[in-house]
Amino acid sequence: MKIPEGLIRVILDYDGTLTAEEEQVAELAERSIITLSRDILKAPLSQVRDDYYRTRAMVLAESHKFRWEVNGGIASYGDEGAFITNTTTIQTMLGMNPSYTQAVREYFPNVEYDPIVDCSNYLFHKLTFDLEPHFREATERVLRDLTAHPRLEPVILSSSKRDKVRRNMGILGFEAIRVLGDTRQYEIDPSWKRQFVHPEQGTGQIFRVDDKHTMDLRRPAYYQALVEEMRDAAGVVVVADTFSMPGALPMMMGIPFLLLKTVYTPAWCEAFVGQHAQGCVLPELALLVDCVEEVI
Ligand SMILES: [Mg+2]
Repeated sequence: MKIPEGLIRVILDYDGTLTAEEEQVAELAERSIITLSRDILKAPLSQVRDDYYRTRAMVLAESHKFRWEVNGGIASYGDEGAFITNTTTIQTMLGMNPSYTQAVREYFPNVEYDPIVDCSNYLFHKLTFDLEPHFREATERVLRDLTAHPRLEPVILSSSKRDKVRRNMGILGFEAIRVLGDTRQYEIDPSWKRQFVHPEQGTGQIFRVDDKHTMDLRRPAYYQALVEEMRDAAGVVVVADTFSMPGALPMMMGIPFLLLKTVYTPAWCEAFVGQHAQGCVLPELALLVDCVEEVI
């Protein structure tokens, strides 16, 4: 395939793409359970822990029914990533138990979305900040190759806070890589009017993925971030370990999307991205530069 002239920006997701989320999630879950028990729910630790793991099993058994919902839209399905399963488990557990819901409402009186979404965001940002990063084996080499490549520019775009990502990139010596943090790929805005065109499903904002899943593209904050990155580049490629939050929107905007296959990648995500004209499944992070050169 002919490589177009000019700079290609490679937009990298952080958690789960450059890091091995699957190795960190148990610690994140335990810290969340402790904080919920002690500070927010004021309920016995063993009870919260039991509730957490019972809810988690339920989420994974029927993930299409247990979703990360924001403003009434589906931001992600519960099985898409290790951290997403943790977030969905916490939201589901807090929402299904009226005494938990009430405690969360009291702890978060001034909310941005709703108390449960705010609570799960609070726990995620607070507790992942101090987690020791577990980079994937290929992360350092891939970042070095991208940085040295004459036509590729890596940019990290993440819903995690910029401070955390920048500090962790510094550990590997990549403080020069631009980081766009807190880009809120999960933020669904039902008042946003932009329409998209699906080759078979016509014009709309929410499209069908398969008989159990849909994709909600009403993500103006993420859309704006992508448009900014395209402005002075010849092309953009997005790379991430999950589909709904970082991948669905760029794919439907005509931007190539590489889905990194991990131990937790659900079959439905792999199948959908693999057969989409703008989608490609990346079998391992080490193949990233080769794969980007193929799709641009
Ligand atoms: Mg990710």
